[in-house]
Amino acid sequence: MKIAIFPGDGIGPEVTAQARRVLERLDLPRLVLFEGDVGGIAYRRHGHPLPAETLEMARASDAVLFGAVGDPSCDDLPRAMRPEQAILGLRAELGLFANLRPATLFDGLEELSTLRPEIARQIDMLIVRELNGDVYFGDKGIRTLENGDREGWDMMSYSTGEVRRIAELAFRAAQGRRGKVTSVDKANVLETSQVWRDTVIEVAASFPDVTLDHMYVDNAAMQLVRNPGAFDVVVTGNLFGDILSDQASVCVGSIGLLASASLGERQTEFGTFGLYEPIHGSAPDIAGKGWANPMAAILSVAMLLRHSLGREADASRVEAAVAKALADGVRGRDIGGSAGCTEIGDAVIERL
Ligand code: ATP
Ligand code: MG
Repeated sequence: MKIAIFPGDGIGPEVTAQARRVLERLDLPRLVLFEGDVGGIAYRRHGHPLPAETLEMARASDAVLFGAVGDPSCDDLPRAMRPEQAILGLRAELGLFANLRPATLFDGLEELSTLRPEIARQIDMLIVRELNGDVYFGDKGIRTLENGDREGWDMMSYSTGEVRRIAELAFRAAQGRRGKVTSVDKANVLETSQVWRDTVIEVAASFPDVTLDHMYVDNAAMQLVRNPGAFDVVVTGNLFGDILSDQASVCVGSIGLLASASLGERQTEFGTFGLYEPIHGSAPDIAGKGWANPMAAILSVAMLLRHSLGREADASRVEAAVAKALADGVRGRDIGGSAGCTEIGDAVIERL
């Protein structure tokens, strides 16, 4: 089991150090860990935010654990050399086409949610967002019309192949959860959504143990705050997923608690190759202070165990240890507590 760890910038190294300790504590068979540079630190050491050796390390691994990239001292560099290019480059080079973001409210943290506690308590969903297609990657441009107006356009497209692979991934994820997929589209007005919906229905036939329903994105945005307990796995395109996953994250509270996975097509010996990272960024304002909450990075390890290493039992163990620590009152500064980064790492490891 080869894991590449790319701590990156800001609080990235602090939180991944704790995540690494958790991973090492699990006694996985034949675990090999490598560390590589990405982001601003890679630019300073190697002259590029995503050095060739880092990319090679990712390709040779079963999974990547990623910290964060972002460095205010790089703001004046040309775009291609900025730290953020490292994550975009990794996604493109590694063919990561699916972004998975679980949204779960931990017991006792209802006050962090923007929703009423009785509604917030029901949230336990996984948003599966397509990452390589849609309006972000179609033909686009700006032209000047005869009357002098400027006109911009972005072409939205989805092929059956693109929809099929993300849908299959969502259905497989639902089999390990509550067995329900909600496909979100805008099939009443968009042709892309018609192809999306037809293809999802076709894929559903191979998963008789999973129930499928369809929802228009406008309705989904409403239901997410009105009745979030109705969602298990939500599968949607790049644009709708971008919006809904941020909406879901404020429904469950702190940025320091949310993990994400980006999965590719490559199958490893144990599961699907993927890159795992907290949804928070490099947070330069608190970097080096020992204040960062490493729980999102630790929960990223749980996702890594589940999707890339086929270690569901270990994944659940890690999630349970985080939940227990929170229930016992271990709180980072981001959620109104005073526990430091290492202290939170210790608390989780103690409860593993
Ligand atoms: P980037 O540009 O890399 O996204 P950022 O400054 O936008 O960095 P974010 O991670 O997006 O930082 O988070 C915004 C703020 O939330 C941070 O400035 C920090 O104060 C707080 N924050 C983020 N992550 C954590 C964490 N793990 N623990 C504690 N506080 C955090
Ligand atoms: Mg940010």
